[in-house]
Amino acid sequence: MTDPHQLLKQVFGFDHFRGVQEEVVERVLAGRPTLAIMPTGAGKSLCYQLPALALEGTALVISPLIALMHDQIRSAEALGIRAASLTSADDRDTVVRRFLGGELDLLYVAPERATTDGFRRLADRVPLSLVAIDEAHCVSEWGHDFRPDYRLLTRLLDDHRELPRLALTATADPRTRADILVQLGIPEDGLIVSGFDRPNIRYHILPREQTGRQVLGLLAERPGPAIVYAPSRKEAESLAAQIAASGRPALPYHAGLEPQVRAANQAAFVGSEEMVMAATIAFGMGIDKPDVRTVIHAGAPKSIEAYYQETGRAGRDGDPAEAHLLWSAADFALARQRIEREMPADRQADERARLQSLAGLVEATGCRRAILLRHFGEDPAPQCGNCDNCLNPPATVEVTEVARKLLSAAFRTEMRFGVGHLADVLAGKETDKVFSNNHHQLSVFGICSAEEMAMVQPVARALIARDALRADAYGGLSFGPGARGILKGGEEVRIALPPPRRARRRRGAAA
Ligand code: ADP
Ligand code: ZN
Repeated sequence: MTDPHQLLKQVFGFDHFRGVQEEVVERVLAGRPTLAIMPTGAGKSLCYQLPALALEGTALVISPLIALMHDQIRSAEALGIRAASLTSADDRDTVVRRFLGGELDLLYVAPERATTDGFRRLADRVPLSLVAIDEAHCVSEWGHDFRPDYRLLTRLLDDHRELPRLALTATADPRTRADILVQLGIPEDGLIVSGFDRPNIRYHILPREQTGRQVLGLLAERPGPAIVYAPSRKEAESLAAQIAASGRPALPYHAGLEPQVRAANQAAFVGSEEMVMAATIAFGMGIDKPDVRTVIHAGAPKSIEAYYQETGRAGRDGDPAEAHLLWSAADFALARQRIEREMPADRQADERARLQSLAGLVEATGCRRAILLRHFGEDPAPQCGNCDNCLNPPATVEVTEVARKLLSAAFRTEMRFGVGHLADVLAGKETDKVFSNNHHQLSVFGICSAEEMAMVQPVARALIARDALRADAYGGLSFGPGARGILKGGEEVRIALPPPRRARRRRGAAA
């Protein structure tokens, strides 16, 4: 077996292992099952590529996305590593011949193929060095990207109990980690977690008012490659057009584009020093562009894990980079409705909890990085000095009383009305809707002062985010599980003081 340090230098051209790489590589070479949790950019591929070269036989690499595999194979081949994949896009006969002939260091396989009897028989005929399972969080229902095929991998793994198995992922909260260990038969002492902090990324999270204007404003002051994540294909297209119209090169990227267009747009982005990619989350996995300076989320991501992974594409070169998230209460309301509509009943509570953690992050008035790192099981310093809240600590206000009044108004109007009407009731406005529903006769009619009224919208946003209020498909607000603690449990509600609004002139208002 060749010395790992020598391989590191000769094949990969690096003088030192980075972070936990050495520990992971040593474990694999010693044949011990391992789960490595390493953030994006930490250098996961080397952890199986190097042992694949050091050990006799071919390494099987399970990887979920064809595009990802092909990128990996290209970079491996550039280092002189003999790698191939078995996907419908490959010349199967040639790959099988090379595999059987012992001419491959790495064979990449998608989980749905790796679990077939045909592939298992094929793999039995070839000396293997190790099995690597990339994106291993896909094996867990707790993970944010569960893929049932990953569960069937145990059959393949059981065929090769003697081989070192190495599971890798960039994202796994403590519960998902524990589950991956169980699912893949890795003992607890096989868990290696690298630090999650990306100190060069500055996090900013702010309410969304006008997507286009805010995104253009951010980009105008931030040169260098940027990714704007849009919540839908349509919005990705529209943002790309608006950004391009502002004079900055920009292209869209989403799964609805023809594969050639996607590939061309990606290549243009990777080669550019100023381009903006306006994309859905289909963009990013496996793309090695170290100099992305800015990642903007035009809407709330799916979870903290997703946020971390997507913002993690900024600043992989270690130079200063920024992440900006624009969120609105509607993002959370929609996500909750989607969970209710589309998720199997037994997973809804968990998905809601995931959303809840994200709400805690966006609403936080303290250090963002500390929340992120705690979410991943670390014990960070309370202040990072490099996020919006550390740099400009927001003034906070206690709004429990307004929150209670808003909840009461929702309750007394039978939880069928949106925040606009509830605000009218609380302000004591004599609108047609108020009269036709007899809401002027309620005890909550006109109970908020002008000062309190200025808080109603941000309080509603905060209550929706923390699931004390839930918006139905028509905007009607009803109680969520968080309401009780505020109404009865003496729970305090605190929000960042909203920035002073530019004086808005209303039609008919006295000048
Ligand atoms: P991940 O899959 O964890 O996101 P990659 O395997 O793509 O990360 O590696 C990220 C980048 O770090 C690559 O450009 C790779 O060449 C580089 N890299 C990996 N290991 C080292 C190392 N020991 N020293 C310097 N650079 C490294
Ligand atoms: Zn901070």
